Amino acid sequence: MIAMIRKFLDLAGERKKQLYLAWLFQALTSICEGAIYFMLFLAIKDILGGSFTKEKLMQYSLMFLVYTVLHFVFYYFTIAKQRPVSYAMMRDERLSIAAKIKQFPLYYFTKDKISQLTSLFTTDLSFVEMNIMEIIAGFVSSMIMTVVFALMLLSVDWRMALLLFAGIIPGYILYQQFQKSMVQLGEQKKNTQVAMIDSTLEYVQGMETIKAYRLEQSGKLVEKQVNGYCTASDRYEATLTNWSMGYKICLNLGLFLSLGVGIAMVRSGSLAPATYLFFAIMGIIFYRPLEALMGSFAMMNLANASLDNIAEINNLPTENEKQGTTQFADTQADVRFENVSFSYDGKRDAVSHVSFSAKPGTITALVGPSGSGKSTLLNLIPGFVTPKNGRILLNGKDAATLKHSDLVRHVSVVFQEVYLFQDTMMNNIRMGNQSATDEQVVEAAKKAHCHEFIEKLPQGYQTVISEGGASLSGGERQRVAIARAILKDSPIILLDEALSSLDAENAVAIQKGIEEMIKGKTVFLVSHTLSYIQNSDQILVLSDGILQGCGKHEELLQTVPLYQTMWEKEKSIKNWKLA
Ligand code: ADP
Repeated sequence: MIAMIRKFLDLAGERKKQLYLAWLFQALTSICEGAIYFMLFLAIKDILGGSFTKEKLMQYSLMFLVYTVLHFVFYYFTIAKQRPVSYAMMRDERLSIAAKIKQFPLYYFTKDKISQLTSLFTTDLSFVEMNIMEIIAGFVSSMIMTVVFALMLLSVDWRMALLLFAGIIPGYILYQQFQKSMVQLGEQKKNTQVAMIDSTLEYVQGMETIKAYRLEQSGKLVEKQVNGYCTASDRYEATLTNWSMGYKICLNLGLFLSLGVGIAMVRSGSLAPATYLFFAIMGIIFYRPLEALMGSFAMMNLANASLDNIAEINNLPTENEKQGTTQFADTQADVRFENVSFSYDGKRDAVSHVSFSAKPGTITALVGPSGSGKSTLLNLIPGFVTPKNGRILLNGKDAATLKHSDLVRHVSVVFQEVYLFQDTMMNNIRMGNQSATDEQVVEAAKKAHCHEFIEKLPQGYQTVISEGGASLSGGERQRVAIARAILKDSPIILLDEALSSLDAENAVAIQKGIEEMIKGKTVFLVSHTLSYIQNSDQILVLSDGILQGCGKHEELLQTVPLYQTMWEKEKSIKNWKLA
């Protein structure tokens, strides 16, 4: 619990004072509650001692009223402070994580990481927001009540009190064991939950394919993961119930012990029967706060795991932390790779010892089988991933020493998948250059051959595009991406499969747009179709991250067997006709 409170305080940052204030009110609420019991105890003591007068009754009644009113007042402030501070903290956290995500290296966003982030936003942050203040408040309250009760009991009869407290020792030992096994089960429960979110996301995202191919089996994985989560939750709760029972019994051993020994003491005359009765009643009440602590353990465990997940995201290094400081503002860029290697997992190189150079005004094509490292090589250029070994030089300057924002500004990227934001078409294109005027946007759109279809939209350039650009065709989205890149006018251009899977009309329009965009630039182009790139100034042939050859089409046909095979295959597919 203490570790969890510490983690929560770390997360609180400047809101620590607000947290302390909320907990202070909780402590005052508990002290008032304890004081009410204490008065009850004093009254019983007076009754037992025969000194309970009318004046005392008035005194106790007045104090009871005062403590009850104070209890309500402090309780009100506890509630009023608790929730808003956790809402405010989680709002800060959501915004800071959202800002941080933007700075994560691009390769971070794999499918499992996206599920992890989704789970963080939908589960962890909400769980902490809704529960953690109550959990900590419960802990503060339990501790204070236990101390108040313990002092009361010790002042009545220390022998009986110590016998009663004896249950705490086995209870504590059991609690330690219980904690270990619950942390393990909690971890399992969390993993099954992430797997469930993962499979559900995949199910929803793949619905088009599922429907098209009538994949009856597709829901089975979701069903399996949902059942897996339910089983893990059941196991967690059942184990929690068993341990809770054991803990309760351990605590109450103290009660049985004190009552058993107490009877012998009453018989021998060393304990007043009324005191015995007092302990019999208080013995039951004494363990209530400690039992409640156990009840909140499951919540505490989950909150702890959620805080760990939040901390994990917060501790990930961002690109900005790795960036250099040298400014870069050249209008043309000569790109040189010197013995560059990169690995995602630190074990296997996705790109291995690659060297080549590319001049402004030339096109460098990257070809090779799927998984050979083409996209990774492209991602190395704008610093989306950084080399493990070797250097990338831009006009002779090591890219690692350049300011990351300068580097990114010098590179335009057109991916096969183009994301359009829920905004006007004008603003979607303007993303290439925020300071561009409307006229410059339109001019770029004309060059990218998207002006005609934009004009036909209901409100032309002011038409708001639905999120992801779903209302536009793949070819139209791609032309918008080209317009963005034309507007950005950066010296380096990366085209990742930009010509794949397009119909002939779109392919022609896009090719024209691309020709306009790449004039005088250093262009890198990934393509599966060799006939698209056969006229490139140079072609890099990759296999398993290793550069097999670098040269012009004719040259590679003679010298690189892999290229030759790929070319033969493409030719045979082209010649293939339906029988
Ligand atoms: P290509 O573009 O030629 O298909 P990639 O550059 O995408 O190849 O992939 C090269 C290798 O790196 C492959 O083995 C692939 O599995 C791996 N890889 C690609 N992206 C990631 C990633 N985000 N995390 C881990 N491994 C990756």
